[in-house]
This record gives sequence, C-alpha cells and structure tokens, in this order.
Amino acid sequence: MSKPRVAIFDFACCEGCQLQIVNLEEDLLNVLSLIDPVEWREAMSEQSEEYDIAIIEGSITRPEDEKRIKKIRERAKVLIAFGACATMGGVNKLKNMFAFDDVKETVYGKDAGLPHLATAATKAVHEVVPVDYKIHGCPIDKKEFTYILRCLVQGKKPVIPDYPVCVECKKNGTICRYEYNEICLGPITRAGCGAKCPSDGGFWCFGCRGLVDNPNVNAAKDVMETYGKTMEDLKAKILLFNQGQE
Ligand code: SF4
Ligand code: SF4
Ligand code: SF4
Repeated sequence: MSKPRVAIFDFACCEGCQLQIVNLEEDLLNVLSLIDPVEWREAMSEQSEEYDIAIIEGSITRPEDEKRIKKIRERAKVLIAFGACATMGGVNKLKNMFAFDDVKETVYGKDAGLPHLATAATKAVHEVVPVDYKIHGCPIDKKEFTYILRCLVQGKKPVIPDYPVCVECKKNGTICRYEYNEICLGPITRAGCGAKCPSDGGFWCFGCRGLVDNPNVNAAKDVMETYGKTMEDLKAKILLFNQGQE
C-alpha cells in the first residue's frame, strides 16, 4: 500500500503545534515510515499541490486565508484541524470581542492602517470549510497525534474522548483545584490530555481542548454553588479558548 501524501499548512498561530511534531524525536521516524510528507514549511523546503491528507494549524483571520483554505480543501481527501487555533479559533478568537481598529492599533501602533495588516473576524477552520478530524489542544498532544495518524493510515476511525477532563483527573488522584479556591474548566472540557494541567502542573484546566459535545451545565452549576462561585465566573474563564461558546 502506498503511503498517503501529507501536507501541513499554517494559518494564524504560534506554530507550537507543528513544533510538537518536530519534538516527537525518535518517534518522528516511525511517523515518517507511515506517511509521505510533501509540504511542511516548518521542516522542509519542498512544496506540492498534490496531497491526500492536509493538516491545518492556525485560525482563519483574513479574507485571503478563506480563499487559501478553500483551495486546500478542494485538493485534500482528508482535512484535519490541528490544535486549538484551528479547531476552535483558540486565543485568536478573543479579538472578536473588540473593535478591530482598536485591536490593530494595540498590536501595530502607528502602522495599524497599512493595507497588508487588514484583518477580519477570527474563525475556526470548520467555520469556513468541512473538517474531517480535529486534533485538540494548545498545543496538541504528541501521543494523540500519532494515534490519529496511525488510525487514518490503517483506515480506522480514531476514538476521541467525549467525557470531561475531571474523569482523567480523578483517575490520577489529583486534589481538585476548587479545593484551592480556583475555577477549573475540567467538568465541561473534553478529556484526552490526561488532565495535564491540574495533575502535572498544579494549575486549573483552562479548556484548551474545547467543550465536550454536551456539557453537563447542571452539574457545573452544582460545582460552582458548592464552592461559592457563580456561572459568570465560569463564563469568564471559558472565554480564553472557547470564545462564542460561553
Ligand atoms: S493551538 Fe496553541 S500551540 Fe497550537 S498553534 Fe495555536 S497557540 Fe500555538
Ligand atoms: S481539578 Fe479540575 S479537572 Fe480536576 S477534578 Fe477538579 S475540576 Fe475536575
Ligand atoms: S487540562 Fe485543560 S487546559 Fe490543560 S491540557 Fe488538558 S484540556 Fe488543556
């Protein structure tokens, strides 16, 4: 069986998710034995208009981005949104809460009016073109990336968790961040990271993998009440990665 041709493209982002692929180190050779990379700006100079799988990092923030992603979609058999910027718009979507002129002036100062700095509302990739698979997280999880890629190469459908981060956190035996008087988004955020922030970092979950498909809002309300917090407190935290879903 021939290896699928894979192209990796970046839009508005920090490229940290692509860096996770580079950071696979020895496992990168295993990945390269499964696929034929034909375009990947961060790691190679070759380019190609012929590919089977397109991996998209970053969010769509300008009209020319929309044209570009539509062309990529036309060429790819499978399109993967890669990382929170691509799957949800990520932190880039915070921009949508403000007047764009103010945002540009804050970032670019006196150069804000230059034509090549034109900007538009930030969109996740699926808000512009159909997406076949999403690889969640900011940044993505290396193990989940290789798992999903292996599934696709073998013609299998990857299983992405649709239960909350709290499940993994409890399994790890971590003391809940609410006990430290913090607000954690674990009860409504999609698992799959191993509850990295509360368990490894001693930090609340800030929702980088997006919400589960049907967040249990009543249970979240109960947790907030138990710990003397309000739903408004929770919504304010959701804004960081899930702007528009609060
Ligand atoms: S999801 Fe996070 S790490 Fe990945 S490109 Fe966006 S900002 Fe960077
Ligand atoms: S720390 Fe967060 S993820 Fe862990 S159990 Fe508490 S609310 Fe859930
Ligand atoms: S714990 Fe939450 S913020 Fe941290 S990696 Fe997992 S989903 Fe992202």
